[in-house]
Amino acid sequence: MTGSLRLSTACIAGALAGRLSIGLGRGRGETLSGRVILALDPKAISKLGAGRDIILVSGTNGKTTSTKNLTSILRDFAGEGVSTSESGANMPAGIAALLAQKPRNRFAVIECDEMYLPKIYRLLSPKVVVLLNLSRDQLHRTGEVRKVSRLWHETFTKDDVTIVIDRDDPFLEYSVANAGHVIRTTFGGRRHPDAATCPSCAAILDWSTGDYLCPCGLGSKLPDVRADKRLNGPQRNTVLVIEAARLMGAEILADEAEDLINRSPDRIYDFSSAGQTISTHLAKNPESWRQALGEVTSDQVILSVNARGIDGRDTSWLWDIDYSKLLGKKVVCTGERRLDIAYRLSVQGIDVSVASSFAEAAETLANEPIQAIVSYTAFQDLLAADLGINKGNSK
Ligand SMILES: [Zn+2]
Repeated sequence: MTGSLRLSTACIAGALAGRLSIGLGRGRGETLSGRVILALDPKAISKLGAGRDIILVSGTNGKTTSTKNLTSILRDFAGEGVSTSESGANMPAGIAALLAQKPRNRFAVIECDEMYLPKIYRLLSPKVVVLLNLSRDQLHRTGEVRKVSRLWHETFTKDDVTIVIDRDDPFLEYSVANAGHVIRTTFGGRRHPDAATCPSCAAILDWSTGDYLCPCGLGSKLPDVRADKRLNGPQRNTVLVIEAARLMGAEILADEAEDLINRSPDRIYDFSSAGQTISTHLAKNPESWRQALGEVTSDQVILSVNARGIDGRDTSWLWDIDYSKLLGKKVVCTGERRLDIAYRLSVQGIDVSVASSFAEAAETLANEPIQAIVSYTAFQDLLAADLGINKGNSK
């Protein structure tokens, strides 16, 4: 079988498998479709990516949102077809499926799991790679942040790829130390919670200026882009996305960029329970919990933690977070692992109570503003209960 016949047969079989999967109600079919494609043609990813302008997006937090954001910016500003995964599939099978769907699209914006990024990078020869951030994830997911940083450090060695990073993150600066072309964006520096020591040489990093510097030279590179220090996590990701879009030819004026940054999607949803509107943050790992805690302004807070499937059964990551923002507030813990989070908070001197459900938690609180932070499946439960009154981006 010739190479092109093998590929086209694989793509037809993959499309059929995808449709079958959807027909049987087993999801969007991307993963099954991609598995069939790769089983019939193991080189399908590089063949389907050849000659296309590819951008890879990776990082601990905000991959799916940033990929969607970049796709929409490129569609608007470059006026070209853009391939992407609508479901956030970010491993090889999902990537094969999205490339097979519209092979004539010039652009492909591809979300990539951190550990698979080196493999996909080598298979696809992207023009641009966007590295959003690196922080500790849950232990069952990505592994230790230094391990990922070292893996990336050994990966990015080509001269013809531009890598866009938040240079305030020492792990990203180390990741691109061998890269030929880097766009460094700074947000005025902020201390990285996992970077007491240098990712390169393990010396104690000097953070005394609010920025980091190591005697080995890490941290000494000047930024190319200086952005506002006050931006939150999703907004910082949007700044990187805009730089990537510009590299792909999109002309984005300063006021258009500002508008895009201000419209950055956030993981905040309004739910209604016990007659209250509860502003709810979806957070899934220490960094997204830190960001959500940073935005808590109410005196009443519900925390809901499950440890099911995608949440991961291990809740030890709860100990990686500083909850001092909750001191003096009325906090109610719920979810299947409410005792885990309640105990963690009590160790930090926070007065907590527990409730058997989100609704019961809301009932115990006064008729004053309530904010909630919930883990992934706890959030899915809220959606399933149809309590949402403004699903998504309530800011
Ligand atoms: Zn060093």
